[in-house]
Amino acid sequence: MSEIIITCDRCGKVINGIIDEFYLDKSIKLTGGFYDLTDNYWGQFARWEEERICDDCMHSDPKYISMYGDLIKRRVDPPVNE
Ligand SMILES: [Zn+2]
Repeated sequence: MSEIIITCDRCGKVINGIIDEFYLDKSIKLTGGFYDLTDNYWGQFARWEEERICDDCMHSDPKYISMYGDLIKRRVDPPVNE
């Protein structure tokens, strides 16, 4: 796992992210803080020539929301301890 500074191709924000190139399944890199759209899987969310976009942009992408909306909601609103 190493730290990496990237610029979001969608909003231009500079992100301090993390990346693990040695993830077991090398077809999907393990990243934190951004998404690598050069991966086969995440490439389906790319617009134009985007290669890396930040979490905020991905999480507001209509296609991403339609697939993972429930996941985001849980992250934003953690269950309240009773
Ligand atoms: Zn962004």
